[in-house]
Amino acid sequence: MARQWNKDEILDAIQRMSVLEDRKPKWEDFAPPVRKSFPPISSICKAFGSWSEALKAAGFEPRQMPFRTGPFKKETRQKMSEARMGWKPSEKTRKRMSLSAKKRAQRDGIWSKGLTKDDHPTLERMSQEISGENNPMYGHFGDLNPMFGRKHSKETRKKISVCRLGELNPMFGKKHPSETIAKMSASKIGEKNPAWQGGIAKNPYPPNFRRSLKGQIRKRDNSTCQLCLRPGKSVHHIDYEKSNLYPQNLITLCRSCNSRINTNRRFWQACLTELQVFRFAQASG
Ligand SMILES: [Zn+2]
Repeated sequence: MARQWNKDEILDAIQRMSVLEDRKPKWEDFAPPVRKSFPPISSICKAFGSWSEALKAAGFEPRQMPFRTGPFKKETRQKMSEARMGWKPSEKTRKRMSLSAKKRAQRDGIWSKGLTKDDHPTLERMSQEISGENNPMYGHFGDLNPMFGRKHSKETRKKISVCRLGELNPMFGKKHPSETIAKMSASKIGEKNPAWQGGIAKNPYPPNFRRSLKGQIRKRDNSTCQLCLRPGKSVHHIDYEKSNLYPQNLITLCRSCNSRINTNRRFWQACLTELQVFRFAQASG
C-alpha cells in the first residue's frame, strides 16, 4: 500500500527539496516517478487542495499564473490552431470537457434560454472576443478548415440538428427585424440570386402564348403535373425559351415542380425532353 503523508511530513519534504535543488521547489519535482522519501504530487494536492497552497504553507511564493491581457497575436493564434488541429482529446478528456461544460451551463443557467449578447454582458464580451480577426476560424476557408473534405458522421449531424430544433433554436418564436428581412431579400434579388439567368425573366412572352394555347396544353396534359402527377396549371417551356411555342416544348407542371425545375436546368431539360419524346411516340404509335 502507498505510504500516507500528513501535512507536516509534506511541508518537511518541500523544504528538503528546496535544499536538495537549491531553488524554490516545483510541482514537477514531485511528479512520478517520485524520488525516494518524497511524497507524490497527488498526495500533496490531496492534503493541501492544490500545489500552490502547499507551496504557500511551506513559506514559498507560489508561481503566478500568466494571465491574458488582451487577444493573442495573430501568429500566436495561427501556431495554436495548427497545434490544435493535430490534437484529439482522449476519451477521458472528452468526458471531462463535456462534464465541465454541463456544470458551467447549470451554474450560469444562461445557455439554453436563447439569450443574446444584448441581454447578457458576458455574452456581449464573448461575442466581441470571437468576432472578426479574433475568431479562431478567421480566414480558415477551404482546406484550412479542419472539416475540409470531411463529413460529419450521421450521429453528429443528428446531434447538431436536434440541438437546433423548436425551442432550442435561437430564432424560435422570434421574427427577424424588418431591416434584416429587407437585407436578406436584397441579397437574393436579380444577379445575386443563384437562379439568375441573365435577366431573361423580363423578356416578354410572344403574343400567341395566350390563354388559348396554354389551355390547349393543359387540356392535352389533363391539367396534371407531368412530373408528380398532382393537379397542375403551370405551362412550362422545356427548353426555357419563351418564344418556342412548339407543343412538344410545352408541358404542364404544378407550381411546386415548376419552381423545382428552375435550378439544375440542363438536367430538367434533358429529363422533360425525353419524357415528351416518349409521350408523343405513344400518342402517335
Ligand atoms: Zn408537380
